[in-house]
Amino acid sequence: MKLFFDKSQLKHAPQQFMAAGKLVPPFEVPERAERMAAGLVSLGLESLEPDDHGLDPIHAVHSDHYVEFLRTAHVRFQELPNAGPEVFPNVHPQVSAYPDLSPRERPRPSHIVGQAGWYMGDMACALGAETWQAVYASAQSAIAAAKTITAGDDEALALCRPPGHHAYSDRASGFCFLNNAAIAAEELLKRFKRVGIIDFDTHHGDGTQAIFYRRSDVFYGSTHTDPRQYYPFYLGYADETGFGEGDKFNLNIPIAPGSSDEEFIDANQQLIIATLASEVDALVLSAGWDAHQDDPLSRLKVSTDAYRRLGRIYGEIPLPTVIVQEGGYSLTAIESVAPIFVKEFLDERKPQ
Ligand SMILES: [Zn+2]
Repeated sequence: MKLFFDKSQLKHAPQQFMAAGKLVPPFEVPERAERMAAGLVSLGLESLEPDDHGLDPIHAVHSDHYVEFLRTAHVRFQELPNAGPEVFPNVHPQVSAYPDLSPRERPRPSHIVGQAGWYMGDMACALGAETWQAVYASAQSAIAAAKTITAGDDEALALCRPPGHHAYSDRASGFCFLNNAAIAAEELLKRFKRVGIIDFDTHHGDGTQAIFYRRSDVFYGSTHTDPRQYYPFYLGYADETGFGEGDKFNLNIPIAPGSSDEEFIDANQQLIIATLASEVDALVLSAGWDAHQDDPLSRLKVSTDAYRRLGRIYGEIPLPTVIVQEGGYSLTAIESVAPIFVKEFLDERKPQ
């Protein structure tokens, strides 16, 4: 299996993250990728630098004006008097009391502070001088992995960092800027008729869901901590099942805080059954390791052994599969759990 990772992905090194009313050191740090890369290479995988496939595959998911914001925001923000080191929003468009005056349908502000609020959904996405280079490279890793599959490989791994599943077509949030899994899925659709995305990160992938919510060519299924008590709070509920053409092509299985291995694995199995029933031809796994009991953000009690079992379960699925890295913030957990999952996944796929 080919593993794609570009060292430029380490250039995004955020300094600020707002949690519980305090600026705290970020969890989404470059060392995450370094630790996972080391663990995966120790399995015998070769870490390949992705080719540069340009902006077209990114524009297949994200609006041009959003990509332009990400590319230029830091330089423009630095021109503000007394600017901080990173683009960080301090205003946000609100859902209007007047339904016909939704701020997202009003003119977009041209001032960088107004744009930061418009394009950044929360205060988990501090954007520094080299953030664009890193998120661009992270997306290129996903594109390269998907292209390996469209060229005939059965599996590929994109060590994406920063992660992507909270990124909307025109909004960064939850440590995510470009939606790597969605970009990979669009790439797969060049060869396959329908793609399934299964997301077992402990947070709901609200960005991925929103991107494909009205479409039937991508099935999105997610299990995650119940959003009534957990980020992203406003999406991820079981009654979100798709809309219009996309009706019944979205499935959320929230699980209660405190749940352990059996609930987590059972939810994954339900997602697999539903995904296969929707007749997908290829699969993207949005693989986050932050349900692990040692993760600083986790509210679940998922053990290392659960990921071992999940590796086998996903390895058994007879579909071409791109594994896209999402969250996971315990440095010690991810450096062991990601390779354990991948090893079991690959063992299961070897011809018997
Ligand atoms: Zn997560």
